Amino acid sequence: MASDNFEINGIIVKSGTRTTIDLPFGRMYTHTPMSIPVHIVNGKKSGPRLFLSAAIHGDEINGIEIIRRLLKLPALKRLRGTLIAIPMVNIHGIISHSRYLPDRRDLNRSFPGTEKGPLALRLANLFMKEIVEKCTHGIDLHTGAIHRSNLPQIRANLDDKETEELAIAFDVPVVISSNTRDGSLREAAAEFGIPMLLYEAGEALRFDEVSIRAGVQGIINVMRSLEMLPPSKRQSKKHIEPVVARSSSWVRAPDSGILRAMIPLGARVKKNTLLGVVADPFGEKEVNVMSTCNGIVIGRTNLPLVNEGDALYHIARFEDIQEVEAKVDDFQEEHSPEEIAFPDTESPII
Ligand SMILES: [Zn+2]
Repeated sequence: MASDNFEINGIIVKSGTRTTIDLPFGRMYTHTPMSIPVHIVNGKKSGPRLFLSAAIHGDEINGIEIIRRLLKLPALKRLRGTLIAIPMVNIHGIISHSRYLPDRRDLNRSFPGTEKGPLALRLANLFMKEIVEKCTHGIDLHTGAIHRSNLPQIRANLDDKETEELAIAFDVPVVISSNTRDGSLREAAAEFGIPMLLYEAGEALRFDEVSIRAGVQGIINVMRSLEMLPPSKRQSKKHIEPVVARSSSWVRAPDSGILRAMIPLGARVKKNTLLGVVADPFGEKEVNVMSTCNGIVIGRTNLPLVNEGDALYHIARFEDIQEVEAKVDDFQEEHSPEEIAFPDTESPII
């Protein structure tokens, strides 16, 4: 069956074609027009319409590179359905290297937005009307906040069967099940019956090669499971069932001082495992930081200068933690780049 045309901002993208469109979004106060760049690949055959969004938090840039690599895939010539890629949603935040919009609102707490509300709500409204409401599925790409790294993980509402299938297809070791009402894009899309995944990996304002590779592969895996891409020709490695966490908690700094972190991302910890030490600059007073639960470290601070109460380690709680660490090790190994002597323009990012 031939694909349908895809229309965005009054522009028709015919089946079997691809194009970049600048979706207008007002002006800066410098009079400079603002627009959101959108790339649409419309397959010859009809199928799901999947959007990929990145930098909804303007300082979370791994997803921009994930989308760039994905759009280079030769297999997109045989795409079934439509891929809509939006590498920079929060265009204001990207310019100022900021998570937020200039009105200090968080775009991912502003969905579904309104036409006449504050700037963040207007941007959310435009994104819903021009992108989300025209799609059948979505993947939103995030990283940890500034000075914080996340282990590659999927967050999704696993109470929804189709969403659960996509979350497992993505193939990262850890899936966090959450069903929050928080003004996020994920929640707003769910209201429209659109299954959505949120991919979290790496740190704000940094590229992380393992996170980028795992993201690209995860999206390809999801597109294969939706039959948007043909199955892999390579003998597929055995699919590792992810470990699902239903809750997580932050371990906070017990005191202000200098943190010596002792546990890496992906480590399996038990209640009261020593995670690090916070000390004064002279090492005269030291306070241990202990895990508050059994689980796996899915997020950590990279900044050793901490105030009491600062979030240091994010731990996903698991009932059965035996196999998680091995799964994370295998995963890291699989996605780690090999050293190369003569880099080219598509070499791994170091
Ligand atoms: Zn984010």
